[in-house]
Amino acid sequence: MNHFEAKGGALCCEAVPLERIARDVGTPTYVYSTATLTRHLRVVQEAFAAVPTLVCYSVKANSNLAVLKLFAKGGAGFDIVSGGELERVRRVGGDTRKVVFAGVGKTEAEMVAALKAGILMFNVESAEELEALSRVGRQLGVAAPFALRVNPDVDAKTHRYIATGLKTSKFGVPFDEAMALYARSRKLEGLVARGLDCHIGSQLTDTRPVREAMTRVGGLYRQLKAKGFPLTHLDVGGGLGVTYTTESPPGVADYARAVIEPLKDLGATLVLEPGRVLVANAGVLLTRVLYRKQTPAKHFVIVDAGMNDLLRPALYEAHHDIRAVAPRKGRARTVEVVGPVCESSDVLGHARRLPPVAQGDLLAIMTAGAYGMSMSSSYNSRPRPAEVLVDEDRARVVRTRETFTDLMRGETA
Ligand SMILES: *Cc1c(COP(=O)(O)O)cnc(C)c1O
Repeated sequence: MNHFEAKGGALCCEAVPLERIARDVGTPTYVYSTATLTRHLRVVQEAFAAVPTLVCYSVKANSNLAVLKLFAKGGAGFDIVSGGELERVRRVGGDTRKVVFAGVGKTEAEMVAALKAGILMFNVESAEELEALSRVGRQLGVAAPFALRVNPDVDAKTHRYIATGLKTSKFGVPFDEAMALYARSRKLEGLVARGLDCHIGSQLTDTRPVREAMTRVGGLYRQLKAKGFPLTHLDVGGGLGVTYTTESPPGVADYARAVIEPLKDLGATLVLEPGRVLVANAGVLLTRVLYRKQTPAKHFVIVDAGMNDLLRPALYEAHHDIRAVAPRKGRARTVEVVGPVCESSDVLGHARRLPPVAQGDLLAIMTAGAYGMSMSSSYNSRPRPAEVLVDEDRARVVRTRETFTDLMRGETA
């Protein structure tokens, strides 16, 4: 469900024609729908309404301040992975008591900032990190709340770059070592055990590994409580998948059942860390056709957005549907939609059936709201795109297009 639909032969975001945004703001531009964003947050919150739950939006999926502000207003907490993301949450007035801090490589400076901000808990991923957190807690004279991120060793059956719960993963601590580490934390000052955490991967399309992981971490949570650790929160991670092309991920209600059923008697507050499912199909990348080129082997459509703007196809061979904003009549043909970046992997759409396109036509790269702008770079010295947030019939620029001055900020010759 999203709010990008064709009206009168032209694709719109809510009530705003994408053509108008391209004319006013230029291309490439990310366009987001307020209605889709707010609806998705509400659907996830409602699916878990039967148990105490805190929905912590995973900031890295789309960290634009306007998006964060919408979610903060909707009552969400935030799952952060850096001091920069903490600062974003503060800028929009997000409740820092609803922040969880994940990541394998937190610096002590980031720990200090997060402790001072009074976050809910640190999701700790190694023994050495636990010691560092203890040091920081002691220095500040507080008990730093932590959860260990355990690796439940389940196969999430997703792309190897986004599977995070296998034994071989860099994330989390091995399941069998968790109990010993919690025991060790008792001897360290400046710490308090608040929860247990896991995250098995991203773009999950099957509830079975979720249920299996929940059963394992639920068992461990029970053992920890029995040993007297004062845990109150069980963080079940994020990762629910979305439909880019033919995937059929579980609905939010099915996912909620797979999470809640193994955990319902624990008395824990569940923490969810959804990213992609909240923002992916709430955004498109709007781009204009620069040139067409026919070689003996292929028809190329060269557009003004590239892998620096949307990295997922080059990084994960990810598929994004590509739609003509105002489809022309005529015979569809199979084309390669490519960007201007000097890399052979700069292919936004491989072997796509598109209606006839001409120079200057607009294309919408769909389902680009997650890991789009947040993964963008200025590779090839390409200023990064603008971002626009639509709300009914209004379109607001929520990040201006980068200028050459932005591009070279901080550099000296
Ligand atoms: C990236 C990440 C998420 C969000 O993943 P999605 O697939 O976008 O839902 C949640 N938790 C952690 C720890 C992550 O690293």
